[in-house]
Amino acid sequence: MILKGKVAIVTAASRGIGAGVANVLAREGADLVVAARDVKRLEETAKRLSAQYGVSVVPVQADLTRREDVKRIAEQAVRNFGKIDILAYNTGPPKPGAFLELTEEDWEYGVRLLLLSAVWITRDVLPYMIERRWGRLIYITSSTLKQPIPTLTLSNVIRISLAGLVKTLAYQLGRYNILVNGIMQGYIDTDRVREVAAARAAAEGKTVEEVIAEMGKEVPLGRLGKPEEIGELVAFLASEKANYITGSLILIDGGRTLCI
Ligand code: NAD
Repeated sequence: MILKGKVAIVTAASRGIGAGVANVLAREGADLVVAARDVKRLEETAKRLSAQYGVSVVPVQADLTRREDVKRIAEQAVRNFGKIDILAYNTGPPKPGAFLELTEEDWEYGVRLLLLSAVWITRDVLPYMIERRWGRLIYITSSTLKQPIPTLTLSNVIRISLAGLVKTLAYQLGRYNILVNGIMQGYIDTDRVREVAAARAAAEGKTVEEVIAEMGKEVPLGRLGKPEEIGELVAFLASEKANYITGSLILIDGGRTLCI
C-alpha cells in the first residue's frame, strides 16, 4: 500500500474516471474525501470503499462550478483528517459542440467547470500542503491538450490552461516539496462515453458495443482504457515513488495520440 497514512481529495468522484481513481487510492491505503453533485452515489461509494479497504472515506456534495460548494471540500478534509496530502482533481465533461453552436453562457459555465474549479480548489488545499512541506497536485485533464477533437470546442480551448497551471505551479511550489503534474487521458470506458456511444449507435443503427469496438480500433492497444488505469497513474504520481516527477503532463491513451 503505497499511500498508507495519506489523505487525498478526489473531485467528480461519483462515477467514471473519478470513481476509478478513488477506488485505487483507497486500495493503496489513502483516507479520502470524495466530492461530486450526486451525494447518494457518493455515500454508496464511500461505504463500499471503507468496507473493502478499511480506509475512511468522507463524501462531500459539491457542484464544482459553484465557489461556495468547492470551499466545503477542503474544509471537510481538514475537519475530518486534519491535513491534505493529495489533490486528484477531476471534473465533469463540458458541453460538446462547434464554436458557432455555443452561447456566451456555455463559455462562462465551461470556464467555471474546467478552469476556475481547479484554481479554487488549488487555492483551498495549498495552505495545508505548504504548512507541512509535502503535497501532490494532480490534474486529470484530457488528451485534447495534445490533440484537439474538432467538436469539443470548450474542452480544446479551456483545458489547455491547465497545462499552464501545472507548469507554473510546479515551478513556484517546488521549494515547498509540492509536486504538480497533469494527466492527459484518451478514450476511457465510462458511463459518459457509453452515453455518447449510445447516441451514435442509435443514429447509425448499430449496437453500443459495436460503437465501443470501433472506438477501440482507433487505439493501437485495441481497446478503451479503464477508469482504474487512470487511478494507477494517479496513485503512482501521488506516492513517494514519484519524488522527482513534477511539471509533467502525462499521456495515457493506449497510443492513440500520434503527435510528439
Ligand atoms: P462521467 O460523466 O462518467 O463522470 C463525470 C463525473 O463528474 C461524475 O461523477 C459527475 O457527477 C461529475 N460531475 C459532472 N459535473 C459536475 C459538476 N459540475 N460538479 C461536480 N461534479 C460533476 O465522465 P468521465 O468519462 O469519467 O470523464 C471525467 C472527465 O474526464 C471529464 O471532464 C471528461 O470530459 C474528461 N475526459 C474523459 C474521457 C473519456 O474517454 N472518458 C477522455 C478525455 C477526457
